[in-house]
Amino acid sequence: MTRHDLPEPSFRDSVDLMFNRASALLDLPPGLEEKIRVCNSTYTVRFGVRLRGQITTFTGYRSVHSEHMEPAKGGIRYSLGVNQDEVEALAALMTYKCALVETPFGGAKGGLCIDPRQYEEHELELITRRFTYELAKRDLINPAQNVPAPDMGTSEREMAWMADQYKRMNTTDINASACVTGKPVHAGGIAGRVEATGRGVQYALQEFFRYPEDVAKAGLTGTLDGKRVVVQGLGNVGYHAAKFLSLEDGARVTCIIEHDGAVSSEAGLDVEAVKSWIAAHGGLTGYPSGTFHPDGRRALETDCDILIPAAMEGVITRENAARIKAALIIEAANGPVTAGADEILRDKGTVIIPDLYANAGGVTVSYFEWVKNLSHIRFGRMQRRQEESRHQLIVNELERLSRDKELGWTLSPGFKERYLRGADELELVRSGLDDTMRSAYQAMRAVWHGRKGVPDLRVAAYIVAIERVVSSYRAKGL
Ligand code: NAD
Repeated sequence: MTRHDLPEPSFRDSVDLMFNRASALLDLPPGLEEKIRVCNSTYTVRFGVRLRGQITTFTGYRSVHSEHMEPAKGGIRYSLGVNQDEVEALAALMTYKCALVETPFGGAKGGLCIDPRQYEEHELELITRRFTYELAKRDLINPAQNVPAPDMGTSEREMAWMADQYKRMNTTDINASACVTGKPVHAGGIAGRVEATGRGVQYALQEFFRYPEDVAKAGLTGTLDGKRVVVQGLGNVGYHAAKFLSLEDGARVTCIIEHDGAVSSEAGLDVEAVKSWIAAHGGLTGYPSGTFHPDGRRALETDCDILIPAAMEGVITRENAARIKAALIIEAANGPVTAGADEILRDKGTVIIPDLYANAGGVTVSYFEWVKNLSHIRFGRMQRRQEESRHQLIVNELERLSRDKELGWTLSPGFKERYLRGADELELVRSGLDDTMRSAYQAMRAVWHGRKGVPDLRVAAYIVAIERVVSSYRAKGL
């Protein structure tokens, strides 16, 4: 039986199959294909923490897929589903993602088998600090070698604990803050990191809709305005993507799927209201404005223009792929479409914007945060007022001309205030992220449309990424 005949490949095998589809189109030197594809190392740690009067043992992982550039970068996930296959698949995706969006990192990923909802905040802090200690003493958290970030089940809070724990262990390391990204702004973080992955999903869609021929491949027309969007997972990534697309691009979020079911409304859901309901009630059940569907998985098959799986891997499989009605799928989560489902969807004409591109906003802004930590200065601090004073010169001149009755023109209301303001950190971060998402899409579509035998954006994305990793190995003389 070949891999292709297996009912459903594991997540790790799925990533490898996708890699193989791209590498088969490249003429790689013997041995290099395997060197790039395999995971360098995975560390498993079991540690005990005294909680509620007894020792509880936890299992955690940190996997380093590639060190062609260092540090290796990748999130830390808290979930009961964490296992070696999953962290290795996610670490591999990080290698390709970082290469695709040109962040100078290798790929890594970590995870802890835990249901964070079962623990109090002070207990989670104890567990996180102990996990950090175990990783840091083996340089699996280190500003120069291995830099985690938030992922499913972790947030700014855990990153702040990790950074603090690392600092306690490395009191003379002046770059200690750069040991982890996704920290709160008051603890060495960067403006715009929390929203970054969802914001990147929005920028990716905006860029896709700038190319009518790409939009036509999905059987769609026009812009994001009025498009019906289904979102699975209203966590960090899904919430921000849904919020920005509905508030800023005029998209209609017609269905939201969460762990306990789905809620739909053809008129469009109020994302903020749904989010508040979940925060107060722990799930969608009982949400008053819309129709509730207890079977969330089935809701992925809702008729829509754009489907945004933003919860977890392996939700679109060989079993349900044929029933997915969305014209366009943007993989906000990592690995939501299995390799088997990918083929079925492609044959159906569904366009997929692949995970290694679609959710790269997080690592892109993490890169900005890491640079900020190493440079020890906030972005915009040096140039903001200088920029404003140069703008002031132009405004003064325009005001002088507008007083000239013979010219007969005036400045538009609000122009002066808008133009005068120099960019702050958040604007610079968004600008850098937008530029990154546009450039990476352009690199992918050049391969998609310009090279023979490239069937879709995923294969194109892998080709761009693999070629960049190859260049980096070549530069090292490998
Ligand atoms: P999160 O924990 O903030 O949110 C996940 C959401 O999915 C939660 O609201 C959860 O209730 C929901 N969920 C869980 N099981 C579900 C189910 N069966 N059906 C529907 N919803 C379900 O996690 P996140 O950080 O938003 O990450 C989501 C995905 O995005 C993951 O695949 C992660 O690897 C990927 N990702 C995250 C980042 C980041 O910056 N946080 C960056 C890149 C990729």
